[in-house]
Parts: sequence; structure tokens; C-alpha cells
Amino acid sequence: MSGKVYLVGAGPGAADLLTLRAAAALRAAQVVLHDDLVPPEILDLCTASAQLINVGKRCGRRGRSQEQINALMVWYARETQAQTIVRLKSGDPAVFGRLGEELDALRRAGVEFEIVPGVTAASAAAASAKITLTDRRAASALVVVTAHNCRNESLSETVEPARCTYALYMPGPDYSKTVQGLFESGLEPTTPCAVVSNAGRANEEVRYLTLGELASAKRISAPAMLIVGEVAREHTPLRREDLLSEISREARNPYCQDGFPIQPSVS
Ligand code: SAH
Repeated sequence: MSGKVYLVGAGPGAADLLTLRAAAALRAAQVVLHDDLVPPEILDLCTASAQLINVGKRCGRRGRSQEQINALMVWYARETQAQTIVRLKSGDPAVFGRLGEELDALRRAGVEFEIVPGVTAASAAAASAKITLTDRRAASALVVVTAHNCRNESLSETVEPARCTYALYMPGPDYSKTVQGLFESGLEPTTPCAVVSNAGRANEEVRYLTLGELASAKRISAPAMLIVGEVAREHTPLRREDLLSEISREARNPYCQDGFPIQPSVS
């Protein structure tokens, strides 16, 4: 039976800012692939028999490449007895954590996964500085942006609307007005978006649409968040034949052959 991969946010570094769900995943894990920024107190939650692998890039050595990390997650899930594999990242895994590439690899390999959110550094830093990130009197948007990107774009290019993800709080009830505002900001009707009602609750509902479609969408329950941008494009499940051909191609990859940097001890 294949294992499941949990992509877990470790929060900003204080163990007591870890979520209960993250702690439960760590306690259950047979394998934990973690970044350098994750503190030892959090790794201490793992059982003594869990295999902890630092895949980070510090400690005076080169880290694993992103491809190796992707391959390791898939390998542990598919080729070993491990049922719970945790990929532990600092902060929130979906904020500047290369999560997109890892999700692509898991989807392509047909590996089951779940994302466990964490407290992102922006929230933690604002709390430490005793400031608010938004203020209805003076700041109605929070821009989360990286000063580094793999395309070497300048900051002004980075914040071009088409290259941004917009996370809109309070997007309803008049979605057509919200969409109109987004068009005026330079976004196209074909821009993908996801409306998420009751995120993380038992009655959660996720709809993937385009902005054009959202303008006339009906029956969206509140509370909802609207995520807009390329990242919100729906992933069509791979057809069974495509998945099988991906697997046979991957099976030829040197995940566990000589020269592979990690000798997994879970078999
Ligand atoms: N996924 C992480 C961000 C990873 S990028 C998150 O959601 O927070 C790594 C960067 O995050 C660091 O270079 C630093 O800018 C910021 N960061 C992470 N932890 C931090 C902390 N405890 N205090 C301040 N900045 C932090």
C-alpha cells in the first residue's frame, strides 16, 4: 500500500506555534524530510524510530536538489512500507516554500498528499513587532513578496498583476463587483481563481473557476476566501494510462540505486 505525504508547516520556529495537526503528523511519521530552519524542539516530537532527513541547504554543505527531494518523497511513499511521510517546511509550506514543484511531482506520481498550513513568517514578525499587517484606516492590502526569485526579475516585475497571487478576504457577497475591481487592476477574465468557503472546516467547499465565470457564480457560502492567479488553476487528474506511463518512466529513475545520496532505512 502506498504511503501518504503530509506537506507540513512548522511555523516560524517556536515549537508552541506549531499546529496540533502538524504535531500529530510528526508523531505519526515514519519518515520526515525537513528543512534547516526547523528547530530541534519540533523534530523532538517525532518517534525515536522515525527517520529524520535534513534536506536543507545550510550547515556548510550543499542541500539536496529540488529534484532529489521530489524523488525522495515519491520513493518513500511508493517503494517503502512508510505510511506517513512528512515534508516539513518552515512557516507555511505554501508561502515561498517551493511547494508547487513538490505538488507537481506528487500529482504526477499519483501519491496521496495533504497540506498542513503553518504560521507564516509575516504573521509571526508582525506579532513580534507588535504591529498589524492591515489596518482598515490605512492599509487595505498585504503584499507578500520575495526579494529573490528564480527568474531574476526585479521587484517591480515581480508585482505585476499577472505574476501575482491575490488572496482576497471578504470577497463577497457581490462577486461581480469584486471581479470588476480585479479587471481594473489589470487581470484578464481568463485568470484562474479558487473560491474557498469554510476553509479547514467540516463544510469546506472549493470551486475552481475563471474570473469571468466567478462574476456570475451563484450560491457561494460565507465565510469565503478568493485566491486569484496562475497558482489557482485546477489540476485535472492524470488519466490512468498517463499515470501508469509516468510510473514506469519514474521506476527507471535511480531513486534507490547505487549513487543515490540517501540509503533509506525504511523498507
Ligand atoms: N515558508 C516560510 C518562508 C520560507 S522563505 C514562511 O511561510 O514563513 C524563508 C524566509 O522566511 C527567510 O529568509 C526569512 O525572510 C523568513 N523567515 C522564516 N522564519 C522566520 C523567522 N522566524 N523570523 C523572521 N523571518 C523568518
